Amino acid sequence: MTETADWVSRMADEVIESAARRGDTRIVCASGLSPSGPIHLGNLREVMTPHLVADEIRRRGYDCEHLISWDDFDRFRRVPAGVDPSWAEHIGKPLSAVPAPFGSPFDNWAEHFKAPMIAALADLGVPFRGISQTEQYTGGAYTEQVLLAMRERARIDGILGRFRTKKKEPDPDEDTVSGPEYFPFKPYCGACGTDDTTITAYDDDTTAMTYTCACGSGETVLLREFTRGKLVWKVDWPMRWAYEGVHFEPSGVDHSSPGSSFQVGGLIVAEVFGGEAPIGPMYAFVGTTGQAKMSSSGGGVPTPGDALEILEAPVLRWLFARRRPNQAIKVAFDQEIHRLYDEWDALERKVAAGTTGAVETTGHTRAVTTAERELPQTPQPVAYRTLASVVDITAGDAEQLERILGGLGATPEGARPRLDRAARWVESYMPEEAHTRLRDDADAALLASLDAEDRASLDLLLEHLEDDWSLDGLTALVYGVPKLRAGLPLDVAPTDELKVAQRRFFVLVYRLLIGADTGPRLPTLLLAAGPDRVRKLLR
Ligand SMILES: [Zn+2]
Repeated sequence: MTETADWVSRMADEVIESAARRGDTRIVCASGLSPSGPIHLGNLREVMTPHLVADEIRRRGYDCEHLISWDDFDRFRRVPAGVDPSWAEHIGKPLSAVPAPFGSPFDNWAEHFKAPMIAALADLGVPFRGISQTEQYTGGAYTEQVLLAMRERARIDGILGRFRTKKKEPDPDEDTVSGPEYFPFKPYCGACGTDDTTITAYDDDTTAMTYTCACGSGETVLLREFTRGKLVWKVDWPMRWAYEGVHFEPSGVDHSSPGSSFQVGGLIVAEVFGGEAPIGPMYAFVGTTGQAKMSSSGGGVPTPGDALEILEAPVLRWLFARRRPNQAIKVAFDQEIHRLYDEWDALERKVAAGTTGAVETTGHTRAVTTAERELPQTPQPVAYRTLASVVDITAGDAEQLERILGGLGATPEGARPRLDRAARWVESYMPEEAHTRLRDDADAALLASLDAEDRASLDLLLEHLEDDWSLDGLTALVYGVPKLRAGLPLDVAPTDELKVAQRRFFVLVYRLLIGADTGPRLPTLLLAAGPDRVRKLLR
């Protein structure tokens, strides 16, 4: 049986059904992101999965919002590579209270690392409402929920206890079980600003809370007025499900184990906060190829912004739309990117011809449009591999570039934005050995050593060089020269013998043009070199 609905559509069905069962007219899809450092490309799945589902729901005319919770009130855990080691003094403070890295225009660490993700999501056509957990907690939005969790601490401790094993390593970020009593809340110290704190007493009636800190400080505060602290993660997450009424929120495969935050959260949201767990599929990792050379802002790991420098937004959207969340995705930064673009171009041709299946068509629609808008596309989509060759050979010379694109039936404007993506790829990711350098001067020794047959083939090529100065014309010419030399008509099917002659001829032309046996496709190379340069090097 042929599938007619893709995973996005099936998941949207489920979410709509669950919202209806819960009596909600407004549907909420959610993502959570931690701006603890560069937000990696892998984290994009945390956003793209609910985005695609929310987008499908909006396309059907429902009221649906996509929330992104910025976990900027979480503690700063470690100083990432490349950041001044003196930032270690801020470990334990909220991410929003840590200074941004040197030279940043942003006020704090969290804002510095949110900004590139926000920019990437705008490029990807992802609308969302960002919620700063710092603003929520310090503004008192969750005061009632915090007081409730504290009142219900024994119940929460009991739920967590069902999953605690004797072997389990203590996790300082999740459970405050070091003291005699369990508390689901962590204050940030009023003196040093860190969460190296321990609650030593709490009074349910007055909400008086006493804590001490590793720095030696300590105080007694009224929790109903105190906003410098947060619920521990395993309680914080389900609290927000209930607070925002979340219907859909996926999580990474690392959350799928027994006793995971998602499983425990499902119990806590129901038993403590009177809410319901969202539909929460696990998503698989996003891998990359060829990131070894990466010198990005991501500390060696690519970010969504890095991917968008070399891929058009619709192509990146398509990578997420066409695979179910539990299937791994690979984003190519190496030469595999050419194959990816070939696949994309083939899909576009099939869509234009009306020969795609239902699921393929839907995947394409999700890539190029959202419920709100159309994503920018390249009007004259010259093959990415061809653009990369042309950019490489011309080394950024605008005049040459325009001339060559003309031979490809395109203009620089029409070839954008793909042209700029390919240019960036050549600059940052093209392997050293793949670069092509046209010879400046003819290889006199090689030309002098040619036999009569080779010389005659080159002369035939030069004679007809400008008969049809286009990619198609030059393709016909380079394959045709060996045929004509063999006395065969141009439309003859190639024999093995002819293929050998063609290969020999191509190698000769490569050697004379670029001093190597192989290179970019020969017609592309000729186009890029231009007729004058070709004559100079082959004569
Ligand atoms: Zn302190």
